[in-house]
Amino acid sequence: MRIAVDRDLCQGHAVCESEAEGIFVLEKKATTVTVLDRSPPEDRRAEVEAAVRYCPTHALTIIEED
Ligand code: SF4
Repeated sequence: MRIAVDRDLCQGHAVCESEAEGIFVLEKKATTVTVLDRSPPEDRRAEVEAAVRYCPTHALTIIEED
């Protein structure tokens, strides 16, 4: 899987960071998220899916790759 962020939608709520620590981070003073691991391993899928689901602005998408 690959993670895509729509930076026009992201408002820096950091819900994603709390759902999937180490994959998403809100740097100090940043207004949008930084994705530390754009292609996380499958064992992090549930956390990434939770981040996508609970992002209040629907800025995150999982793109499936072969
Ligand atoms: S939860 Fe959504 S809006 Fe908030 S920082 Fe993450 S991607 Fe951006």
